[in-house]
Amino acid sequence: MVLLEIKKLSKCFNDLEVLRDVNISITKGEVVVIIGPSGSGKSTLLRCVNLLEHPTGGEISYMGQDITHLGKKVTDYRKHVGMVFQRFNLFPLKTALENIMYAPVKLSKVPHSEAKEQAMELLRKVGLESKANVYPHALSGGQQQRVAIARALAMQPDILLFDEPTSALDPELVGDVLEVMKQLAKEGMTMMVVTHEMGFAKDVADRVIFMDGGYIVEEDTPIEIFTRPKNERTKSFLSRVL
Ligand code: ADP
Ligand code: MG
Repeated sequence: MVLLEIKKLSKCFNDLEVLRDVNISITKGEVVVIIGPSGSGKSTLLRCVNLLEHPTGGEISYMGQDITHLGKKVTDYRKHVGMVFQRFNLFPLKTALENIMYAPVKLSKVPHSEAKEQAMELLRKVGLESKANVYPHALSGGQQQRVAIARALAMQPDILLFDEPTSALDPELVGDVLEVMKQLAKEGMTMMVVTHEMGFAKDVADRVIFMDGGYIVEEDTPIEIFTRPKNERTKSFLSRVL
């Protein structure tokens, strides 16, 4: 089943064309990793998918429905699309548990006790049940990011978007976060992941997309992209990062 279909997507900021003719189709359960140099439009692409940015042209449809002209229903759509950012963006004055409970209680009107139970379950899932009552400042970057993932999961999204989730972390904290993401992939979560972690891409991606200059330059299975890249720009990028 096709969950997300992006057709001829373009995005301009004034005169700057940041995305050009981007076409991606994502089926349920698929893990798509997006790689590419800084400034190639990766973040903008994710931000268009959850409508933090409005596309200049093209169409994005979610379960067959065009979502680029939703008007006030944007909030409903966003409930289905979780996002995890490079900077974890936790609410600083809420505990780990409260961070996770916030959206279900406020947006989906889940009863407090039910939301709490579910949040504890999610903390267990990311290996942080002992940190339920701890505030973000007292957590390591990796722990904060795992809470951020749990918070995204609390809305029971159909798809999770990750924008360089480990780029702000000290190297020794990266592994735990990637492990949680791997586990989610195994459980069948549909994911779009922008990352520079090529090992993760190799192990977990069903498909790797290489972007440069706002275009999708090449798209293939990880094994093809990493062992037999066809495009010169892909080759040159990989030779710098691998
Ligand atoms: P990446 O995530 O691949 O590094 P981005 O999507 O962040 O790339 O950015 C692509 C290009 O768009 C860059 O040149 C960036 O400066 C520009 N850009 C991103 N967001 C904005 C914005 N809100 N206003 C103007 N230019 C932007
Ligand atoms: Mg980016």
